Amino acid sequence: MHDSLKAFTCRMCGQCCQGSGGIVADLSEQEKIAEYLDLDLVSFKDRFIRRKGAKSFVRVNESGWCVFFIRDQGCLVHPVKPRACRAWPFFRGNLMDESSFEMAREYCPGIEKRIDFDQFVRQGMDYMQKYGLSLDLEEESAAALHVEDIRSAMTK
Ligand code: SF4
Ligand code: SF4
Repeated sequence: MHDSLKAFTCRMCGQCCQGSGGIVADLSEQEKIAEYLDLDLVSFKDRFIRRKGAKSFVRVNESGWCVFFIRDQGCLVHPVKPRACRAWPFFRGNLMDESSFEMAREYCPGIEKRIDFDQFVRQGMDYMQKYGLSLDLEEESAAALHVEDIRSAMTK
């Protein structure tokens, strides 16, 4: 047990900005990014958003990187990036399933290698609450942010 260990410190490697699916951005998140980029919402959506089913995703480029990721600079929209980007690695799957957590720990250099699952979950739930990442979610918000039932189960 390493109670004093911090579960996560981002190393800014950008690895999590690559992935063919793209990041979910709900309407309020899209509005914030559009304003930040000084674009109207329609133009912003045309250029940067892909709709799939009930959700909207930030597009990825041909190499599979998020279109907002700039090599050697990082996230172009960092101050207003979607909540899913701010919540990683404390995604629902990683907080519910130990093997998913272990895979995330291998993949993301920001996750402390000595942290155990229980501590990761505790710190992750605190993090989600502190930054309000799992509150006021819409149906089109990222499923990974829906963690409040985990909190309820922890307090039973
Ligand atoms: S993969 Fe982990 S350490 Fe790298 S940028 Fe993403 S969250 Fe940070
Ligand atoms: S919005 Fe920013 S943080 Fe999120 S995936 Fe794209 S480049 Fe990475």
